[in-house]
Amino acid sequence: MRGGLIAGLVVLLALGGFGALLVVNSDPNAEVRPIIPTEAITIEPTRPWQELLLIGAQNGTPVPTVALPDGQAFVAPTLPPLQAATSALIPANDIAALPPIDFPIDGATATPALPASNATTAPLATRLAQTPRPIPTNPPSLPVPLARDPRDHYWFARPIDPDRNNRTLNYYEYGTDGPADSPYPIHHGIDMPNEIGTTVRAAGSGLVIFATSQTTPIFQNSPSYGNVVVIEHDFSYQGLPLWTLYAHLEAPLVVAGERVEAGDAIALLGNTGQSGGPHVHFEVRLGQNTYGSTVNPSLWIAPFVNHGTIAGRVVDARGDFIDDAEITLFAGGVPRDVTTSYVFRGSGSQVNPDPQWNENFVFFDVPVGTYEVVVTLDGVRVSRPVTIREGLTTFVELSPPQQ
Ligand SMILES: [Zn+2]
Repeated sequence: MRGGLIAGLVVLLALGGFGALLVVNSDPNAEVRPIIPTEAITIEPTRPWQELLLIGAQNGTPVPTVALPDGQAFVAPTLPPLQAATSALIPANDIAALPPIDFPIDGATATPALPASNATTAPLATRLAQTPRPIPTNPPSLPVPLARDPRDHYWFARPIDPDRNNRTLNYYEYGTDGPADSPYPIHHGIDMPNEIGTTVRAAGSGLVIFATSQTTPIFQNSPSYGNVVVIEHDFSYQGLPLWTLYAHLEAPLVVAGERVEAGDAIALLGNTGQSGGPHVHFEVRLGQNTYGSTVNPSLWIAPFVNHGTIAGRVVDARGDFIDDAEITLFAGGVPRDVTTSYVFRGSGSQVNPDPQWNENFVFFDVPVGTYEVVVTLDGVRVSRPVTIREGLTTFVELSPPQQ
């Protein structure tokens, strides 16, 4: 084993050096071509990079020590167990037949893809070896499961490590249709753009009920999700089962029927299926394992240390949701973030408010502090003050002023 590891490291170093030459000689302005998964990706079980990835999973990001207010001791909530497995392994066509779920990732804001000359031709190990590890820019996430308020259910860890991009793509949040000038399909998950080959990790413990692999080659050509892993979790919410889904993968590292723990490496991030750039599409499904049973993952994955979440509702005078309203978050009078409310109408299979919050918009990963949430309704500026506390959801409702 040890000799094999050393040999693997030598191979990786050699590939890295060769890869650096390729990068130096590649055209940085070359068109980035999406990887079309027409053939099954060959994964040799003895490849050293796989061993190294699995070792990396065991030496993952340490859980941060978090100071609680008022000297309270942190008590992790006890998650209710899933009474019985509810889903058999998913038949192939259930996923392959789904409508498109993702559209272009803006190259200007997404993490740049690898040069095209390598992205489409070099072996995966070469691409992994030549990918520099970015400098960590994200705070650590709070430990899961997290529920400092009984209404919260931050039970899932992020599928991406903090030294990569593990923030949600802010112009294509859950329930929205993306940029106003060129709407995308209504989003049933959240996206985290990263380089191909980035490790994707299980958000919670459970059973892998689906994983594209060489034994299920039909999914190599799934028109929507591309290569995908689905985990049925071994805890439930209000008696309802929970699943997480990871899509557009380069390759899974698990197989259906395998048990995983939170943080286990389950896949390599990719750009397969209906995808405009390398990223992981992450869904949380509640009650039923269907495209129409998602909830906003930003209310289920733990915020960063020293950050919290705003869940809000934009409604009309009758109290009904207003779709696609633009909401701005101000800090000290300066716009800090903007989002739009969920688009429920015309979405085919619906997105859903959270059963706890009944929200139609979310601002995620908001630093602790005081803010103003603003929307314009019937030409009138409606503003509400909010205070963000660490690891907690702050709820706000925006409605037209009384006549
Ligand atoms: Zn997505």
